[in-house]
Amino acid sequence: MSDLDLKERLIKALKGESVDKTPAVSVTQTAIVNLMDWTGAAWPEAHSDANKMAELAVSSHEMAGLEGVRYPYCLTVLAEAMGCEINFGTKDRQPSVIGHPYPNGVDNLIMPDDLSSKGRIPVVTEATKIIREKVGDNVPLIAGMEGPVTLASDLVSVKKFMKWSIKKPQDFETILDFATDACIEYANILVDNGVDIISVPDPVASPDLMSPVTFDKILKPRLIRYAESVDCVKVLHICGDVTPILGMMADCKFEGLSIEEKVKDLKSAKETVGDRATIIGNISSPFTILSGTPEEVKESAKKALEGGIDVLAPGCGIAPHSPLNNVKAIVEARDEYFA
Ligand SMILES: [Zn+2]
Repeated sequence: MSDLDLKERLIKALKGESVDKTPAVSVTQTAIVNLMDWTGAAWPEAHSDANKMAELAVSSHEMAGLEGVRYPYCLTVLAEAMGCEINFGTKDRQPSVIGHPYPNGVDNLIMPDDLSSKGRIPVVTEATKIIREKVGDNVPLIAGMEGPVTLASDLVSVKKFMKWSIKKPQDFETILDFATDACIEYANILVDNGVDIISVPDPVASPDLMSPVTFDKILKPRLIRYAESVDCVKVLHICGDVTPILGMMADCKFEGLSIEEKVKDLKSAKETVGDRATIIGNISSPFTILSGTPEEVKESAKKALEGGIDVLAPGCGIAPHSPLNNVKAIVEARDEYFA
């Protein structure tokens, strides 16, 4: 068992199989300014240049020790390919969607003929090849992509999406189905290009924005269809305190569920989920990894390990100004725990 390489260990842990020690990775955004300065591969260029995307991603593995390579750094690649307008942000601000192709309705939805050639999808597939060449076959490649709920809201605007959820239930379901189709197609492009794990942050599905009843009746069936149509290990990340929907998330057929520190009781979270999924997290990105000390990161990591976390990781995207030593402390804490 101690012969496991990083990829085998992470995949086994995500599937709930026993491993020699808990893997320590990030399934959410990893890039920090320290490493942008170190590598010379910085935002916003690293969102659109395959070499820079790859170099910055690999540095989180080689310099910070994270046991996987996680990229890209935004939730806008598929949105852009589907016709959204993107603001690429700055060195320390992530890209965001600023223009929506379907704010007026769902009558003329257009699925691109060749999605793999659209927007920055070729950049991500090229970066995948470069990363694989750099790190070899034994380090897991974790590709991030926006989930169907978040993509649907980007296609029509969050405001319209929220409104349709109440006043135009048919349009709401139509845009969700369309977004789910696009997510499945993009995920399969990623799988065909050799990624090992797909991490799907779907922040708009959070109980902060969508009621648990909507999640159960409308969003969950789409997430299940996505998961059943994508043949690799998958992680679902939903922001906020997901305690009210955790049991439903466990039904979504993703191998792993990535949760924030806002889910306070890890032991009962594990009980709720049971053997339907594994749990990843949940060191606070804003309060500990960004603004704490390495000792505080370790304390929080050990608490997660004691709570039975299956994969040790930040609770949400790492903030760009997080110190390198705090990211390093994630893996150090795991090593100390298992020493
Ligand atoms: Zn999050």
